[in-house]
Order: sequence, then C-alpha cells, then structure tokens
Amino acid sequence: MNKWIKKDLTYNWHPYTQMKDCAKSPPILIKRAKGIKLYDDKGRAYCDTISSWWCNVHGHNHPTINKAINKQLKDFGHILFAGFTHKPAIKLAEKLIEITPPNLKRVFFSDNGSTAVEVALKMSYQYWQNSGHKDKNKFVSLDYGYHGDTIGTMSLSGVDLFNRVFKPLFFKAYKSPSPYCYRCPQGKEKSSCAIECIKPLEKLLKTKHKTIAAFIIEPLLMAAGGMIIYPPQYLKLAARLCKKYNIHLILDEVATGFGRTAKMFACQHAKVEPDFICVSKGITSGYLPISATLTTNKIYRAFYADYQKQKTFYHGHTYTANAIACAAALGSIEVFRKEDTLNKVNKLAPYFHKRLEEFRKLPLVGDVRYLGMVAALELVKNKKTKKPFDFKDRIGQKVYKQGLKQGLILRPLGNIVYFYLPLCIKRTELDQILAKTLTLIKNLKK
Ligand SMILES: *Cc1c(COP(=O)(O)O)cnc(C)c1O
Repeated sequence: MNKWIKKDLTYNWHPYTQMKDCAKSPPILIKRAKGIKLYDDKGRAYCDTISSWWCNVHGHNHPTINKAINKQLKDFGHILFAGFTHKPAIKLAEKLIEITPPNLKRVFFSDNGSTAVEVALKMSYQYWQNSGHKDKNKFVSLDYGYHGDTIGTMSLSGVDLFNRVFKPLFFKAYKSPSPYCYRCPQGKEKSSCAIECIKPLEKLLKTKHKTIAAFIIEPLLMAAGGMIIYPPQYLKLAARLCKKYNIHLILDEVATGFGRTAKMFACQHAKVEPDFICVSKGITSGYLPISATLTTNKIYRAFYADYQKQKTFYHGHTYTANAIACAAALGSIEVFRKEDTLNKVNKLAPYFHKRLEEFRKLPLVGDVRYLGMVAALELVKNKKTKKPFDFKDRIGQKVYKQGLKQGLILRPLGNIVYFYLPLCIKRTELDQILAKTLTLIKNLKK
C-alpha cells in the first residue's frame, strides 16, 4: 500500500464511509484535476461524473476562477463580517439577488448547505415570533427530502439510512408523501396523473396551518433522497397552498442551483416566488465552501427594529462571507456569462436525455429519469413488480467498483446509479461515459 494511503487510513475518518471497507478498498489518492477529470498518483484518469459531490460546475482547475481567487489573495483572506464588510461579499450579494427570483432582496451568508437551511428555518421561526404568531412554530417537509446533516436539518430529512440512529434527537416535524412518480404514492401513472400527490400536503396545511411556520422542499429534484424528479406543476401547487395558508415556502436549491437543471435555479422551471431560497454546492463551482440564504423584504422588515425590541437575528458562523470564497463564487458566475454555459447545456441536455432512453431496455433498470445534466437509473430486482434490491445486496456498490475500473465515478445512492455532470462536459466525453455505463450495467450480475 502507498505510504500516503497508509497515513490516510491512520489519521483520517472519511464521511459516509464504513472505514472497515477501506482496508479492502482504500481511497484513491488524487494528485491533480482538470476539466471533468481527476488524476491519481499513477496518472490514471477518473471522469468526475458526479461533479465531486454535486458542486463542480465548470470543471476542475478553471483559469477564470483560479484568477479570481489569486486576485483576492493579494488583498486578504478572511475578516469578520459583523461591523465590517468587503467588496467581494457586497458584489456577490448583489449578483445573487440579480439571478434569483425577483422577490428575493436580502442575502445572509453562511458556509455550507446545512447552515443555509438552518438559517432559513430559524429566520422563518423567528419571523412568526417577531410578528405575534407564536403558534406558528412547526415545519413541514417531504418524506424523501434531504436538507443536510445537522440535527435541525436532519429533523426535516427523510433519508432513513442516514437518519435512523439519530431519530430520538430530532424535533417534531410534519412529513408529507413525496411526488415520486416511479413509485407513485397515489398509485397513478406519470402519463395520466393530475398531481393527485399534492392532496396529502393540501390536507395537512389546511388542518394545521395555524401551527406551521414553513414548508421546505427541494425544487424539482430531490437529490439525496434518490434523484427523484417531479413535475413543475407539483411545486406550483405547493407554492399556491403556502400562499393560501400563510406558510413560508423555503426552497432548498443547495443541490439544484447554478445551472444543474438547465436553468440557473430549478424553481425557475415552475416560476414560483419563495420566501426563502438556500444555495451552496455549485456556488463556487466546487472551489470553496460558502452558502447563502436569500429572503424577501417583508421577512427582513420583521427583524428591523429598535435594539431594545429584541428582534435581532442572533445567528452567525465564524467564516461567514469568507472573502476568498466570495471571490471564487463571483468568478464562477462570471464563467456562466463568458462561456454561455446555460445555452450550451440547453443544447446538450436533449441529446443526453435521448441517449439515456437506451438504458430503459436493460433488465435491471426499473426507471430512467432526468432533468438538465442530472439523470438517475433506479436498479430493481424485478422490473415487473418494481421490487427493490435489498440494501445488503449493495448493487449500487458493485456498479461503483466496476465503474472505477473503467475510469468512471458512479458513486450510487443505494440502488440508484446517477449522473450529476459538470456543465462543461463535451459531447464526446458524454458519449464515452454513457457507452461505458451501459455496457457495465448490461453485464452486471444480480
Ligand atoms: C447537500 C445538500 C445539503 C447540505 O449541504 P452541505 O453543504 O453538505 O451541508 C442541503 N440540502 C440539499 C438539497 C443538499 O443536496
């Protein structure tokens, strides 16, 4: 074993990893990365088909972003963000307001997706406290939703494998069934449904709205819950219900933001105006951790008062609005303009989707779903009955291991193999990835 890997296994504890597995399958030592490829210490290349956990957008080692970071380094790295401010944070806030739905007018920075969601939850809760609705103190989320790994955000997530042991620590929240078309909670078919799956949410909001502060949802793509893609109409109806019952709508765009779904933000497919939007992952194109929670003037004003009134929002993180991260984010947003990224994605996505249809004929593939540059293949034990593989079969893990041998990073979510492609991907690269994956799944033994 390489001496660095030996050291890694001596000192590091990796996320979402059974470290005992590492003895047999040690982590791969990456020396450099360029475009959509990572290169290991032996010079072997791996296609970053999941955008390094959904955050890389324009490819690794991008000259424009490198330059933006280097420029900021000449001035300073980080300063406190209370009582002080700096141009990178001002410019980034202005830019985020420009590219998100027009009703969002305020930006609160933090440093990861989970904290961006925590900020929205606390702001929503305190908004109702500050404005005399003390009973509006509960949250609603979807049963396949995922909003982060802090105790607060886990209370609203439904990914049972991650959550199970921590359940006793969670605060109580209402859960509604997800619009999971392949496994429709109402037993409908996608081609003939009338979004009946909104009914349980409607009933819940109707009966409990006096106690509900906010409804949180990932727009159009429930990522960690299994890359579940649902129709924009569901989001439109949910937004309408929130307005009707005076409930905040929190959109968790942490995974979907920054072009992933072929629009800058996924909520733009449904043209909804949320009370909060949370962004992080793609914001710096995977360079540095930063996040933002955007909200409306109406909510902002409920906190704006004489100090003695005690309406201040007491929340913050040490690395809030880190200047180098802000510079990287500005650099990444600049690349969208310079390289006409969204236009390119809109041209490539239909081709990507057409090629994905080829996977439908494979006996192990129960469902194929896609949106923008994201796609998922749900592997099933029995295609007719949609019977899932047992988690002990580790079918996704088999795909992952085979993939690595072929230079692909097909890190699965349980039985779901997915692509979360960097937006800079070229058609030839896409062709190679799809051809290899097709053969790999075709040859997979149950
Ligand atoms: C990843 C993710 C989060 C959490 O972000 P972290 O930066 O990992 O804390 C929250 N919401 C969604 C939708 C995500 O995909």
